[in-house]
Amino acid sequence: MSRLTADAPAKVNLTLHVTGQRDDGYHTLDSLVVFVDLGDRLTVQPAPDLRLTVGGPFAQGVPTDDRNLVLRAAHALARVRGVDRGAGLQLEKNLPHAAGVGGGSADAAAALTLLAAFWDVTPLPADHPEVLALGADVPACLSGPGPLHMTGTGDHIAHAPALPDCALVLVNPRVKTPTPQVFKALASRHNDPMADLPHGMAFDDFAHWLSHQRNDLLDTARSMAPDIDRVLDRLQRLPAVKAVGLSGSGATCWALVQDMAAARLTARAVQVAEMAWWVAPAAVQRA
Ligand code: ATP
Repeated sequence: MSRLTADAPAKVNLTLHVTGQRDDGYHTLDSLVVFVDLGDRLTVQPAPDLRLTVGGPFAQGVPTDDRNLVLRAAHALARVRGVDRGAGLQLEKNLPHAAGVGGGSADAAAALTLLAAFWDVTPLPADHPEVLALGADVPACLSGPGPLHMTGTGDHIAHAPALPDCALVLVNPRVKTPTPQVFKALASRHNDPMADLPHGMAFDDFAHWLSHQRNDLLDTARSMAPDIDRVLDRLQRLPAVKAVGLSGSGATCWALVQDMAAARLTARAVQVAEMAWWVAPAAVQRA
């Protein structure tokens, strides 16, 4: 096998309810998760041992040693499948990290899929304990790219009803809100589950439904990163935007718009006003 490449698409939580906390400390969640057409990119080629280089616009600060989820995923797959071969991995980091868009989890899922093909071994199923041990979002990232309903500690994944054609604008004010810190500071850990997403909704109905949903991490995240309020406020004022929210533990916010043309226009308006923010139009993957 010479050289293989895989995309590691960003995940976006359109809703996120924290429904409880287990005795082992893990939180139980209820979330509508979608994937978009932008993300990191992972390439593998032959090498005598397992090695990783990281490049791309968000490479700075990403570990290149065994703390990196790509290498942790590679070791997990090699351990479970009894592989004793090397792999030279190159990660192109296009997503901000500690940003709520699951960059590390997406990379881990891409590594599991890519290396299973590269080493010619059976892929690990999404419900394998080693997969969940890599991160709560890794089973979801392995189960995309269609919309998912995630429950449990991230280990229960079901396909969500099909969504209408739609697009998002992702905005990160370049503030880090690390997931463990947000969960630690959370005031309420026992909230009601998410309302069922009706089947077959048209765009306007979906936008209306979404504008009445919530992310239980929002209040905590915005108290740690007040810029989140500035982002949401700016997005809400734009005419094409039909719903806004926070993904994961933030600080990336999303704005729902009808199509990519509206996403590009909206993104440009935000970027012109706030040059320092990371702003990206993104198509929602339907399957
Ligand atoms: P989530 O949406 O699941 O909450 P996140 O966006 O908050 O994820 P990540 O981007 O996955 O967080 O990164 C969290 C931390 O994990 C980073 O600060 C970094 O130190 C570490 N990390 C390990 N591997 C990676 C990777 N491949 N890409 C980014 N960060 C990584």
